[in-house]
Amino acid sequence: MSPHIVTSLLAISALASPFRPIVAQESTVLIPDRVFDGTELHTRWEVVVADGTITAAGPRGTVDRPSGARVIELTGATLLPGLIEGHSHLLLHPYDETSWNDQVLSEPLALRVARAVVAARATLMAGVTTARDLGTEGAGYADVGIRQAIDEGITPGPRLLVSGRAIVSTGSYGPKGAPEWSLPLGAEEADGRDDLVRVVRDQIGRGADWVKVYADYRWGPDGTAAPTFTQEELRLAVEVAGSSGRPVAAHASTPEGMRRATLAGVLTIEHGDGGTPEVFRLMADRGVALCPTLAAGDAITQYAGWRKGIDPEPERIAAKRRSFRAALAAGVPICFGGDVGVYAHGDNGRELELMVEYGMTPNDALVTATSGNARVLRLDDRGRIVPRLLADLVAVDGDPTRNIGALRNVRFVMKGGVVIVEQ
Ligand SMILES: [Zn+2]
Repeated sequence: MSPHIVTSLLAISALASPFRPIVAQESTVLIPDRVFDGTELHTRWEVVVADGTITAAGPRGTVDRPSGARVIELTGATLLPGLIEGHSHLLLHPYDETSWNDQVLSEPLALRVARAVVAARATLMAGVTTARDLGTEGAGYADVGIRQAIDEGITPGPRLLVSGRAIVSTGSYGPKGAPEWSLPLGAEEADGRDDLVRVVRDQIGRGADWVKVYADYRWGPDGTAAPTFTQEELRLAVEVAGSSGRPVAAHASTPEGMRRATLAGVLTIEHGDGGTPEVFRLMADRGVALCPTLAAGDAITQYAGWRKGIDPEPERIAAKRRSFRAALAAGVPICFGGDVGVYAHGDNGRELELMVEYGMTPNDALVTATSGNARVLRLDDRGRIVPRLLADLVAVDGDPTRNIGALRNVRFVMKGGVVIVEQ
């Protein structure tokens, strides 16, 4: 981020003081050219907001404007629900800046938190008003504190659903050094009935909104991905988390890891690179959503030297296109979640651009980022522009249902009825 942008963001913050919760707020009428309501596009609509919620939305002339309401014209823009990022790591920064191993092993916690605070701000400025952050990767429960700082208006950011340290089976995760050494890991190990029950409960007690487990990892022969937890262990994690009201997300990219996680009752599967038509059918039957994290693979392959648009497409990317299409064909609910942190925070829209590039319509991609993720993440108070839902709204220049790249042209962000960005 350039100093110029930082200065202007600070100026926005100083002028409008937008990050402290404002209790009594005037009503606001928003008049964009178009409204995407979370499902479909409407032209010549307007939206009324009061006390942090949407109070009316409909064709111009049919909606009551409260007297004295502030009117914000968003000429040329499309208004849509604030985006819901399904898979972020605020405590990570792009791997072409610092490798994952070095971030986990060598970066001071305070440094990581300082970066995460900046990342949370960039995320909100990009129109993401809710993010599910899936693991701190060695930064303990820093996500719980950052969630609190955002909720208390100390620092700007999206509403966060956090998962703390996340859970891996012994021996599977990294960083790995010489076998004589035990290095600090990017997640917490747990195995077998008693240990797994204790760790799931402990992470919940320390503030996890979601429990994240790694159903497979690259610990197979020659570093290939292979299942980690047994079917029984995964079922147990889901049962224990569920009794406290917490859902489970599973990292899985092998068909067997995905199958076990699906049968165990997780709500989302992260990555799914090796998914087969059979396992995608099983996911669709059980209503388990896939967060494909297309942007992470795209970024990592480029960090490894692939010159996108110049070199032929590597097999890893071609295979990812095929598996994503197989998931769509099977009717798997798709979660918008890019694994942002592997690439720059605030660049969340990159995942949606790739979803379109890999075969989804722009309208369907927008659904995943709004009403779709609200449904997948069990957030029934947001994700659509209808009365009584939270006034988390974003406006972008252009029409993202035709050109998904328009999401990069953010000119207005509102969170809970408070204007964060207005240009
Ligand atoms: Zn991730």
